[in-house]
Amino acid sequence: MTRDWGSRDPAFVALIERVRSAVTRIVADEGYTTVPMQGSGTFAVEAMLGTLIPRNGHLVVMVNGAYGRRMVSLAERMGRTVTAIEHAESEPVDPNRLDAVLNDLPDVTHVAVVHCETTTGILNPVAAVSTVCVQHGKSLLIDAMSAFGAIPLRASEVSFDAVAASANKCLEGVPGIGFVVVREDVIQASSGNAHSMSLDLYDQWHRLDRDGQFRFTPPTHVLAALDAALAQHAVEGGTEGRGRRYDDNRIRLVGGLRALGLSTFLTDEKQAPIIITVEAPDNPNWDFHTFYDALTKRGFAIYPGKLTQAETFRVGCIGQVFPADIDRFLVAAAEILADMGI
Ligand SMILES: *Cc1c(COP(=O)(O)O)cnc(C)c1O
Repeated sequence: MTRDWGSRDPAFVALIERVRSAVTRIVADEGYTTVPMQGSGTFAVEAMLGTLIPRNGHLVVMVNGAYGRRMVSLAERMGRTVTAIEHAESEPVDPNRLDAVLNDLPDVTHVAVVHCETTTGILNPVAAVSTVCVQHGKSLLIDAMSAFGAIPLRASEVSFDAVAASANKCLEGVPGIGFVVVREDVIQASSGNAHSMSLDLYDQWHRLDRDGQFRFTPPTHVLAALDAALAQHAVEGGTEGRGRRYDDNRIRLVGGLRALGLSTFLTDEKQAPIIITVEAPDNPNWDFHTFYDALTKRGFAIYPGKLTQAETFRVGCIGQVFPADIDRFLVAAAEILADMGI
């Protein structure tokens, strides 16, 4: 990131190509291409929905948290017909409910699902959702933002048209770019669908396909960091190796939190090794901001809860975080809770 890359320089064009093929290889062997999109992850999701769903298309979204709801809002803003299948935030989405909706609504063209719903950290059954889509002949679009590179997803096993993710979650790059891994025949057929110029994934792909360059200024330093992050991902053993470390973190963290008398929001079989939602202690001395600030002073950053139904906070398993860091976190949390009289 300390090197000033020329955005149309041959060395940078080669870096873009290296990043695109390394990202594609994480989920597919052939027939797919990666289209990077400047911005945060939501920009990539918006580009995916807006470009791959025709203007007269009909999207069904499987919703069990904020990121599913965000896809519903995005599709509504673009003026696409959208049907939400709402689930409780504590439950994985139900492929049988999708089957029933697809039987009732034959004009549906696309289905969208979140792989790990980061609102709670719940793992959704994308393979079973994909099977239902195949049976009904519908296109599946996956928001795998918080799972990509740590939770296995292979196009040879799970049929999908496209998957959106970003540089700064399990790939451990820095924020500033997202991407969509999309079937080559699907992106080729998507010209003219997009509602937006800057978020037109087809145009972005078309220019990259022609001369390997972005249409508009790319975040050069961010892409250079992603190139390095992808190399580190490979060294760690790819999705399998990284997923194993995150799962070690999860086991340590969940066990340690329970030993402190805290409860997780999800049962273990629903929990992905990405982020853990913890129920706030049922104690009058509890105050999230006091807990948060004390952890920050000791070098730990946690996340507030994102649920409406219960007071919670969240602790991540991902990033350059190892079981020894989790142990240090648990010691700090125990001391802070004791100081708070909890
Ligand atoms: C992080 C995340 C996003 C994108 O969030 P941004 O803040 O736009 O990067 C989308 N979906 C899921 C499931 C996520 O975890």
